[in-house]
Amino acid sequence: MTSSNLAPYVTIDVNWMGRPKSIAAALVQSDGVNALIDPGPTSTIETLRAELRRLGISVQDLHAILLTHIHLDHAGAVGALVQENPKLSVFVHEFGAMHMADPSKLLASAGRLYGAEMDRLYGTVLPVPEENLRALEGGETVTIGKRDFEILYTPGHASHHLTFWDAQDGTAFVGDVGGISVEGDEFILPATPPPDIDIELWNQSLDAIERLRPAKLFLTHFGYANDPHAHIARYRERLGSWSGMVKSLLSSGKQEEVAGQEFVEAVAGETKHAVSDSEADHYIFNGGLYLSWLGLLRYTKKKAQRQATS
Ligand SMILES: [Zn+2]
Repeated sequence: MTSSNLAPYVTIDVNWMGRPKSIAAALVQSDGVNALIDPGPTSTIETLRAELRRLGISVQDLHAILLTHIHLDHAGAVGALVQENPKLSVFVHEFGAMHMADPSKLLASAGRLYGAEMDRLYGTVLPVPEENLRALEGGETVTIGKRDFEILYTPGHASHHLTFWDAQDGTAFVGDVGGISVEGDEFILPATPPPDIDIELWNQSLDAIERLRPAKLFLTHFGYANDPHAHIARYRERLGSWSGMVKSLLSSGKQEEVAGQEFVEAVAGETKHAVSDSEADHYIFNGGLYLSWLGLLRYTKKKAQRQATS
């Protein structure tokens, strides 16, 4: 098999929680170099391994991992992969790099959100030795074989979020900046978990992605969005309506817990209205709606504080 016969990217469905089309890793193969973009959590590492094997490679054959951000559903498996293959270079934003080397804070904050479910959802998270980490800030180019990825700093979902831009192919790997939308669906569910949500920064990141005039976006959840302009326009609307909803629930004077339940019911209702029952179940399970409430609540309060003190 020659490299010219290979598609530039292979979507690997890691089948998270036994649910297809939840988390997609992307395999890059170019000129004998293999890299994974967002390998997923440790809980799906056996599926990742099996899928790589099916493609004729093993963890030992990987050279690099590119992380859009360090949330466990994207990056949880990295420590285990590096333990298995100490030659791996791990590219990650500088604000995320320290938490990969010492995941204790990351795990404590994830533990507060997921509680006893954390292990079942994400598995064990191992630290990544510092010598494997390649910290980025945006503006660099990372080369995998003959493919160049321009690195864009795209905060909003996470303060350390990167987008990888392959200008040659026209694909922007946007991680969670483009929300949750299964390839082929028009529907997009926002994902706004704590602690970094910032809608203004998020919109600026969407501006930066739009300026690339990408032919395709690759979303971790899940796969390609083939009309980036329309996707981004729809997503801005969704983010705006969710943050508006949180703002008005917060100013209604309701108890936060009650307001949170109302938010979850409202967005679950929207979802069921927009797609079929089984699809709605998929989006609601993957979306973590209460976490999205908490993320937007934190953002809305911080913003109100900033405005009060400025
Ligand atoms: Zn995320």
